[in-house]
Amino acid sequence: MKNIAIDGPAGAGKSSIAKLVAKNLGIVYVDTGAMYRTMALACLRDGVDTSDEQAVSKKVGDVEISIEYIDGAQHIFLGTDDVSSEIRQEEVGKNASLIARYAFVRSKLVSIQQELATRQDVIMDGRDIGTVVLPDAYLKVFLTASSKVRAQRRYKELVEKGVECDIDEIEKDIIARDEQDMNREVSPLKQADDAVLVDTSDMSIDQVVSRIMELYNAD
Ligand code: C5P
Repeated sequence: MKNIAIDGPAGAGKSSIAKLVAKNLGIVYVDTGAMYRTMALACLRDGVDTSDEQAVSKKVGDVEISIEYIDGAQHIFLGTDDVSSEIRQEEVGKNASLIARYAFVRSKLVSIQQELATRQDVIMDGRDIGTVVLPDAYLKVFLTASSKVRAQRRYKELVEKGVECDIDEIEKDIIARDEQDMNREVSPLKQADDAVLVDTSDMSIDQVVSRIMELYNAD
């Protein structure tokens, strides 16, 4: 297996980069954040308070999450409902970070992720891929950028989609989400000892993709 693990904070460009590398190498891109988001969406739909660990734990057992690849793109289903677009809302992202603190949520999703990686070579992105999900990955990259740059990228993305937003508000949210992800007890966001740090603040998408291809081919 020649798996690639990409970790890093919100808005570092993980998914855009991972999709392009997957295409170059003809391997499958697995977006694990989408799974935490889908779990959060299931709670929101049922009015489950995501800060109530017990309430979430009751809900988790009933949630059926599945992944399908349609024309090479990952689609994620909650039961039979394709929720790939709905989970992109900011509200869902914030709640995903809340429920991602719970060990029972993580163990359910980590086993789905590990199972996917036994079937084919994957490039998987998230927060704990190099440290927990794929500790033996062939290549581990920790992708980061300053919070300012990450907020600018997110702002541009939202404006292009026609969503009204405030850049300072976005940066505040990004910092709060990072704090929560880095300081939780279970599988916090951190660089694996054997991961290569790539700071994308002053790099274009193409430059980051080339750097990862270089690292992959050098090994
Ligand atoms: O990457 P994305 O923003 O879609 O992830 C949403 C949230 O899910 C993150 O803020 C993080 O709390 C959680 N997550 C995680 N572990 C992963 C992937 C995502 O805890 N492997």
